[in-house]
Amino acid sequence: MFFCKDCDGYRVRGKRVAICGANNDAVEYALGMLHYSPCVVIATNAEKPSWSRKHAALLKEYEIPVEPDKITGVIHDGCQVQALRFKGALEVKTDYIFTTRGDIFHTKLAKSLGARIDRDGQIEVDHCMRTSVPRLYAAGCVTPANCQMIIAAGQGAAAAQAINRDLFEESIANHSLRRFREVQLEEEKTVPEIKSAKA
Ligand SMILES: Cc1cc2nc3c(=O)[nH]c(=O)nc-3n(C[C@H](O)[C@H](O)[C@H](O)COP(=O)(O)OP(=O)(O)OC[C@H]3O[C@@H](n4cnc5c(N)ncnc54)[C@H](O)[C@@H]3O)c2cc1C
Repeated sequence: MFFCKDCDGYRVRGKRVAICGANNDAVEYALGMLHYSPCVVIATNAEKPSWSRKHAALLKEYEIPVEPDKITGVIHDGCQVQALRFKGALEVKTDYIFTTRGDIFHTKLAKSLGARIDRDGQIEVDHCMRTSVPRLYAAGCVTPANCQMIIAAGQGAAAAQAINRDLFEESIANHSLRRFREVQLEEEKTVPEIKSAKA
């Protein structure tokens, strides 16, 4: 089962693909998948479709079948999916399954610290991953970024750099670097040895 059509769509070229979901995302996954395969079906797993009228019209226009019944089983040979079984014993031959995003954002800690959360439940951040709370940073899938590993890692790096920069500026503003320097000046060698290069 796949999760990301951008990451794995190319793997299912020419195969029978089932998209599990009942929202606009599911419709867009199915439409996007047409670039890879002509044989795409949506399986709502008996969930009431919440897709918009526009999306319903697109499904009709592009003639994408929808299986509205509960999925009762997956027929497979080892790791290879062969079919989805639906309530009433209907079986739909399927080579690959994609599930659409139904993200749950674990933002309890950020919320408890007062961070602003957007309408989708994600933590608002600036381009340096700073939240609305000073000294609180967020990176990865809890932010509005696309949910991919390389993006989460990149955001983590951006956050780390911002943390260093912010701590540095704070240490100048509140003179803590100066106090640190005073200890160095008192306890450590702070000037390199100098000698003449002439023989
Ligand atoms: C099925 C699936 C397939 C995917 N395939 C791909 C793919 O092919 N390529 C790709 O780039 N991305 C893929 N992704 C997305 C990728 O996994 C995420 O983008 C990435 O893991 C995000 O990293 P993250 O650090 O934001 O979150 P996570 O990796 O989810 O890490 C968050 C961590 O925080 C921990 N945690 C949560 N709450 C607390 C708490 N209160 N206290 C302590 N720890 C806590 C969690 O247990 C977890 O370990 C896939 C995701 C799924 C679900």
